[in-house]
Amino acid sequence: MKSDVEIAQEAHMIHIEEVASQLGITQDDLELYGKYKGKVALQTWEKIKTRPDGKLVLVTAINPTAAGEGKTTTTVGLGDALHQIGKKVAIALREPSLGPCFGMKGGAAGGGYAQVVPMEDINLHFTGDFHAITTAHNLLAAIIDNHIHQGNELGLDPRRITWRRVMDLNERSLRSIICGLGGKINGIPRESGFDITVASEMMAILCLASDLDDMKARIGKIIIGYTYGNEPITAEALHVTGALTLLFKDAIKPNLVQTLEHTPAFVHGGPFANIAHGCNSVMATKFALKLADICVTEAGFGADLGAEKFLDIKCRFAGIKPDAVVIVATVRALKMHGGVPKTELVGENMPALEKGLANLTKHIENMQKFGLPAIVAINAFPTDTSQELEFVRRKCVELGAEVALSEVWAKGGQGGIELAKKVLAACEQPGNFNYLYDVNASIKDKIATIAREIYGAEGVSYTPQAEKTIKELTALGFDKTPICMAKTQYSLSDDMTQLGRPAGFTITVREIRVAAGAGFLVALTGEVMTMPGLPKRPAAEKMDIDNAGKIIGLF
Ligand code: ADP
Ligand code: MG
Repeated sequence: MKSDVEIAQEAHMIHIEEVASQLGITQDDLELYGKYKGKVALQTWEKIKTRPDGKLVLVTAINPTAAGEGKTTTTVGLGDALHQIGKKVAIALREPSLGPCFGMKGGAAGGGYAQVVPMEDINLHFTGDFHAITTAHNLLAAIIDNHIHQGNELGLDPRRITWRRVMDLNERSLRSIICGLGGKINGIPRESGFDITVASEMMAILCLASDLDDMKARIGKIIIGYTYGNEPITAEALHVTGALTLLFKDAIKPNLVQTLEHTPAFVHGGPFANIAHGCNSVMATKFALKLADICVTEAGFGADLGAEKFLDIKCRFAGIKPDAVVIVATVRALKMHGGVPKTELVGENMPALEKGLANLTKHIENMQKFGLPAIVAINAFPTDTSQELEFVRRKCVELGAEVALSEVWAKGGQGGIELAKKVLAACEQPGNFNYLYDVNASIKDKIATIAREIYGAEGVSYTPQAEKTIKELTALGFDKTPICMAKTQYSLSDDMTQLGRPAGFTITVREIRVAAGAGFLVALTGEVMTMPGLPKRPAAEKMDIDNAGKIIGLF
């Protein structure tokens, strides 16, 4: 069997101008980054903004397991299938981060015969957007430390600077550092630390901003820390919002690439799906909706986090709404939700499948709470038996969801025709989309609604620290914003070992953080890692490049 990178290297790519022309993007509006990558110029927006939106399809999944689900693969394959049946389609995906690429995951540009290309470039540096985000983030950090060094006019408490540093690598040894060591000329010593770039609030801002002005306004609102008098200080107070915004002059433009089948794909922005909302940029999605008849996009993690935040945060800020939701599930993962260990997934196991289906059931019910039609995509593995597939099919129909077998990993767009047809039919249904909660409700009401309705929790408990922060943030007027839940992706609950559909649990909110620039509050349950570490055998050990520039081992 060929690896993802081998399949990608065999691809015959067409010039990106040809890809762009499928969407009516002219040479004037396309900024070339070589032959196969481009950025769409900002001026394009003025020409297309009054057009009606195309249909929006969100691809999400059951709670992830070690068996793997394949959301990106399904998103790309569904896009290709729609393309094959003659639709003007644009895909919108996140940009991969280098940290997980060299750590656990390898590339993240789809898989098998459903990939975006050039996959090596997309996975490695791409068009430099992450570099711009990293630099803007660290410029703000440098300005803060310089401000303290130069006399600290604002009275910043060095112990309460919340703005850390970032880099786009998994680097556990920099999670906590002391900066400013070395005497008087080297600044004021204080504790700081590094997060991964995708966890930067700058990333969340890039992905939620509607244009450069909005970006600047959001950057100005970032809270960087607190004074000795407990007053929040924003980036605006340091007079650098202009400089920070200009670092994004190119990064803000959506990147355009193609799939293996030459379907246009925007790949732009990639925020974490825990402390941020986990979707590609609003700008890329909005460009796709104006330029194509149908846009297929993905949200990170399972539907309890990814889809909920896509709908309640991204759609709310962007003023967009999906017409249909695809929930990706695999028979293997459902069996794991039914209690089967990863080593015993081969072989039919109807009782485990039936038990594990409870997880899928909950996600179908949840999409119905948003008033959205759900189509289950069974991402096919060779080990699935026809009885297992038939059972999942019947169960979905009983629950009022459509279902299709997706073989896009093995066959490309041709393997997704049934899914594409069902998605198109769902898009024709009258929509009655609603947000899950009123953004003006209290912080606790919003969290309780998400926990009860989406996770199936009985209630929410708060640590004393979270209670205190909620009071403070409410007093400061930060309570009328969406909530970004940071929770384990593996379970509907906040305990990663509770697979399937747990019941009778409460979730514990440990900490609330304000992302005033992004425009949401982050509610943290359990430990959330904002700087991953590398595993014992990093994926990097398998990668290489030969003298002719041929890359191997990028999955
Ligand atoms: P997600 O977006 O949900 O994280 P991806 O689409 O990136 O998942 O897929 C994760 C990995 O699983 C990729 O390496 C991909 O090649 C592999 N994969 C996805 N679907 C299948 C399948 N049907 N058969 C075999 N491998 C698959
Ligand atoms: Mg993905």
